[in-house]
Parts: sequence; C-alpha cells; structure tokens
Amino acid sequence: MKKWKQIFRVLLFLDLEDGRLNLFEAFPALKRFFYRRKYFAWIRTFGDLAFLGLILLGLFGPQDPHRNIMLFLAWGVWWTSVVLSWFFLGRMWCAFCPFPGLGRLLQALNWSRLKSPPKWLTCKGLHLATAGFFFIIWAETVTDMKNSPLLTALLLLSIVAGATIMGVLYRGYTWCRYLCPLGKIIGSAATLAITEFRSDYEKCKDCKTFSCRRGRDHLRPCPVFLGAYHAKNNLVCLVCGHCLILCEKDSPALYLRHPLREQIINKGRYITCSYVIPLLMGSQIARFVYESLYFTPIQNLLGFGKALTFTFLFAVGTLFFIELIKGGSILFTFYEDELFGRFSPMVPVVMPLAFTGELVYRLQYFLEELGNFLPTLGRQLHLSFLLNYHFTVPPWAIKGLSYFLILLGVAGGVYVARYFYKREFEGLVPFKNYLLINLLLFLSAGLYLLFQP
Ligand code: SF4
Ligand code: SF4
Repeated sequence: MKKWKQIFRVLLFLDLEDGRLNLFEAFPALKRFFYRRKYFAWIRTFGDLAFLGLILLGLFGPQDPHRNIMLFLAWGVWWTSVVLSWFFLGRMWCAFCPFPGLGRLLQALNWSRLKSPPKWLTCKGLHLATAGFFFIIWAETVTDMKNSPLLTALLLLSIVAGATIMGVLYRGYTWCRYLCPLGKIIGSAATLAITEFRSDYEKCKDCKTFSCRRGRDHLRPCPVFLGAYHAKNNLVCLVCGHCLILCEKDSPALYLRHPLREQIINKGRYITCSYVIPLLMGSQIARFVYESLYFTPIQNLLGFGKALTFTFLFAVGTLFFIELIKGGSILFTFYEDELFGRFSPMVPVVMPLAFTGELVYRLQYFLEELGNFLPTLGRQLHLSFLLNYHFTVPPWAIKGLSYFLILLGVAGGVYVARYFYKREFEGLVPFKNYLLINLLLFLSAGLYLLFQP
C-alpha cells in the first residue's frame, strides 16, 4: 500500500529535490527483466519478424487498402503504440526497434567497419534527422501513404536501408543516435515520460572504469555512445538496460518521476526540442485542416493543388509557432543565462500540447479504422464470415477523447507556466506577461480544437 501511495505522490506532486521512485527497488521483478538480456533479444526478434512480414505484405500483397491489413497494422497499431509509449517508457521503443536489426546482425557477423561516427554526423545529425522526420510527415499526407501498402513498405524499407548502411559503416547504433528521423521526435517526446533511466551519483562518483560508456571485457559499450552516467535527460538513452550488465557497481536504474519534471528543470534548453516543437505543431495544424471540412474552401481560395495547399499550411503553421514560442519566451523576460546562453522557456509550456496533439492525430486514425480490421483481414484471406464483424467507433467518442487529450495538454502547459511564474522565475515575470503567456497557450489549443476533423 505504501508503495502505491509513493507512486501516486511521485506522479501527481512535483518535487524537484526528491521526487523520484526507484522502480528497481520497488519492483525487483522489473530489475530481473532488464538483467535477463535474452528477454530483450526475444522481443527484438519478434519485432524484426513482424516488420519483415509487414514489408512483404506491402510489397507483394494486394494494393487495395480494403484488402491489405498491413496499413492498419503499420499506421494504426504500430505507430500509435509508439506514440503512446513516449509518455510512459520514454525512448524504450528504440531498444526494440526493428529498423537497425539487419545492421546489428551484420555487425555481429563482423561485416562492419565498426568505425566511430564522423564529426559531420555528430554536428549535422540533428538537422538531417529533423528534416527527415518532417519530410516523412509531409510525404505521408501528400501521397496519401496511409492508403498505399507499397509506399508504406518503401518508407519502412528506406529507413531499414539507412540504418543498415550506418550499421555497416560505423559501430553501435550510429543511425539511432544521430540520423534516425523517428529517433529525434521520440527523444523529444521522451522528455515528458513518467520514467527515466539514470545512474546513481553516489555509486558513480568513484568509478574509474566508466564501463557503461566504454564497455568492458568482451561486452560491447552503450550502443548510442552514452552510458548511464552521462544520461542526464531522456533525449538519447534508449532504456535498453545494456549498461546494467556493464556496470560493476549496480548503479543504473529505472525511476518513476513526474511527467513535467524534466521540462521544468531544463526550461527549454534542449536545442532538439526547440527545432522539433514548432515544426511538429505546424504540421499538426496542417494535418488537422487537411482532414477537416475547411481544407477545400482554403484550397479553392488559394487556387493551388492539394499537395501545394498542404505544404503552404505546413509552412505557415510552422512559422506561426516559431513566432509564438519566440514571443512567449520574451514574455518570460528571463531567457538567457551566463552558463547556457539563450533558451526558450515557452517550449516546455507548449510541449505537452504538441505531443498530446500527435497522440490525438494517431488515435483518430486508429479508432476510425479499428472496426474495418477484421473485414479487411477477411477480404485478404478470403474468409467471408469476417465481413460480419465490421463496427464503427462512434464519432462523438473519438471527438470526446480528442478534446480530452488536447485539454490535458493545455493543463500540462498551464502547470508549467504557473510553476515558472511562481517558483523558478519568482518575481521576474510581470503578472500581465504571465496572463499573455497563458493566452498564447490557449490560442494554440483553440486552433487545435477549431480544426478537429
Ligand atoms: S554507471 Fe557504473 S560504470 Fe557507469 S559511471 Fe556509474 S559506476 Fe561507472
Ligand atoms: S545509457 Fe544504458 S540504457 Fe541508455 S542507451 Fe546506453 S546502455 Fe542503453
């Protein structure tokens, strides 16, 4: 009972000093799961085979979207689950991700140069990966990829190809650390997760080996060149648990925490989030409009084709959120310090809305298509009795859930703004600025609500 009270307290009451719960101590079975590396290997193998099946279905299966279940499995089940997992497990999806599977196999067979990642990659990787992610979102919409098994399979194959080439050229998960388009968005969202994988400073302070980062004996090092000791945020760590077997001091552990803790501590200093958030929010508004009744009148007004109108909305939305975040950060009056330079305190205020917005977008597709899954399977396998299992999730339920999640994102933003105003920047932010910051947040949420399909 005491344990559950602790969990409740950690999740609901933000305490920056002592507000974490060591889940390995509270639930020793969880620690055993992380230590038994074969469990991870089994899950990864299952994921690799499932992905191979999806790609084959996309390439060689029926191209009619009503006759191929790979579309719902890829866009509805897989991607929606990844988005949902951000909020609970951080980047743990990446620990099981099938994309680097082939590269990992080639490395195990010694068919890799195993070189260290080059300097240009460590410097430019963030920009390339962010551009890659938003290209995927753009292409997903303008090519109507969610209705094309072939294009979906080609997208998955292109990511596998990128990860494999990087696996052959460089050691570890160079792709996941620097170039994966999904990795940057998952890493940014993971900063809102209720869990974090960290080392214990008291155990680490006398460490001479740093084997969590360097590896030891025959054990390979942290796959993303980090190591538990250097994991100070959720952006990079994959929660793969590999450093548990590397560390001789039993230092790394999984902690439960308040979902806004990391954002409040960092106050918008993550450059990754500063890049990703306005683009993500701009793309979401464009995607919501694209699927709403507003799109055709806007298209007629502009006189562009569908793809160009969407591109225009994407660009305008992104510029709007860049300016909104800039304006909000200036209103905080405190957005520069000697140690870190400029930062964007408005980013953590809009961030919960940005990621609940993504969840809304993906859940809508999942719920709208859920009732078609068995009939689609029936048509694909020629099992006509499955056609009788069609059902529709009521649109009011989907809308209600969407509104609830958007308001949850707003509540998170209001909480962060208030925390900054009352505590972190106490006495620095004029009350009218504080009201305007909230107004900007509500304006963003208003756009999300207005353009719900
Ligand atoms: S986690 Fe372990 S290996 Fe890494 S620095 Fe701490 S004590 Fe050393
Ligand atoms: S720090 Fe540990 S858990 Fe995180 S990616 Fe590296 S080995 Fe995996």
